[in-house]
Amino acid sequence: MKPLEQLVRKNIWSLAPYSSARDEYSGKEAHVFLDANENPYNAPYNRYPDPLQREVKKLLERVKGVPAENIFLGNGSDEAIDLPYRIFCEPGRDNVVSIAPTYGMYQVCADINDIECRQVLLHEGFTLNADKLLAACDAHTKIIWLCSPNNPTGNSLDRDEIMKVVESFDGIVIVDEAYIDFAHQMSLRQELPTHPNLIILQTMSKAWGSAAIRLGMAFASKEIIAIYNKVKYPYNVNQLTQQQAIEMLKDPFEVDKTVKVLLQERSRLMQAFLELPICEKIYPTDANFFLTRVTDATKIYNYLVDRGIIVRNRSRIQLCQNCLRITIGTRTENNELLSALRQF
Ligand SMILES: *Cc1c(COP(=O)(O)O)cnc(C)c1O
Repeated sequence: MKPLEQLVRKNIWSLAPYSSARDEYSGKEAHVFLDANENPYNAPYNRYPDPLQREVKKLLERVKGVPAENIFLGNGSDEAIDLPYRIFCEPGRDNVVSIAPTYGMYQVCADINDIECRQVLLHEGFTLNADKLLAACDAHTKIIWLCSPNNPTGNSLDRDEIMKVVESFDGIVIVDEAYIDFAHQMSLRQELPTHPNLIILQTMSKAWGSAAIRLGMAFASKEIIAIYNKVKYPYNVNQLTQQQAIEMLKDPFEVDKTVKVLLQERSRLMQAFLELPICEKIYPTDANFFLTRVTDATKIYNYLVDRGIIVRNRSRIQLCQNCLRITIGTRTENNELLSALRQF
C-alpha cells in the first residue's frame, strides 16, 4: 500500500475540520449547556446529537467485534460510498475500478465527483478474476470497488480472489458487505488489522430491517476512519436514528431469527421458480434476493406491476439480459408473486 498521505487528496490531508460545540465539550458532569445556541425547550429534540455516535459504536464493538475507533457511521451506506471519492480522488484526474454488473451507487458517486469509473466485467457465473481487475488499474487508480455478496447477481465473490486484490493493489480496496448476514461466507472484518488498505461497508438496511433510519457503517484502520470523520457533516447521523439503532443493537439475536426465516423462504421460492414455465435460469445467491433469467423480463415485469407486485427489472444491465431480481418477502407476499406468475 502507498503511504496514506500519498493516497489522500492534499486539501483533505491538510484540512482543519469544523469543531462543533459538542466536539469541544463532551463530558458527563455538566448540566447547564449554553454552548451550542440550542433552544432549552422541546426536549429531547432540542439538543444536537453526539457527532461521533459513541453509544451506537459501543454496542457495535460487541456485535461486530470491531473497536469503536475503527468504525465510521454514516447516513446510509450512501454516505460511506460517497466519502472515499471526496477523500481520495482528485476530480478529473484520478479513477476507480469496479466490477460489473454491480451496485449502481459506485458509478453514480463517481459521476457526481467527476471521477472515471472503470468497469471490469465479471466472468462466467459472475465470478471475480483478480488479475483482470488489477490489469485495469493505473497510477491514478485510487480505489477498487468490490461487492460481496454482489448486487444484483446475489453470489459471494471468492474470498481468495478478493484477498489477492487487497494484497496486490497499492491503493484502497472497498468491499461492500451489505448482504453479509445472509451469506455462508464470513465477513472480511477480521482481515482489517493486517490490511490497512481495506475498507468494509455494512448497513442496517437489509438483515437489520432498518432501511428507514439510514445507518451505514464503514470498518477500516483508525487512520482512515479519522479522515472519514474529518470530512463528514458534523451531525451526519441524527438523534432518532442513533436511538433506534441502539434499540436494535441491544437485541442482535432478533435479527438472526428473521434472517433464518428469510433464508427458508428464499429456498422455497427458488424451488417454486424452477417449476415455472417463464423461468429459464436461477443464479446461485447468498443474499435476501435472487436473480432469475426469464422468457421476457419486461413483459413479465409489466404484467406484475399491473397486479400491484413490483420486482426489479435488471434486463438492461450488462450480462443480465432478461433478468429479474426478486427480493424475498413474507410467505404471503411470496405466494402472491408465485400465483400471479403461474397465471402468466
Ligand atoms: C442495499 C445496498 C446497500 C445499502 O445502502 P444504504 O444506503 O445503507 O441503505 C449498500 N450496498 C449495496 C450493494 C446494497 O445493495
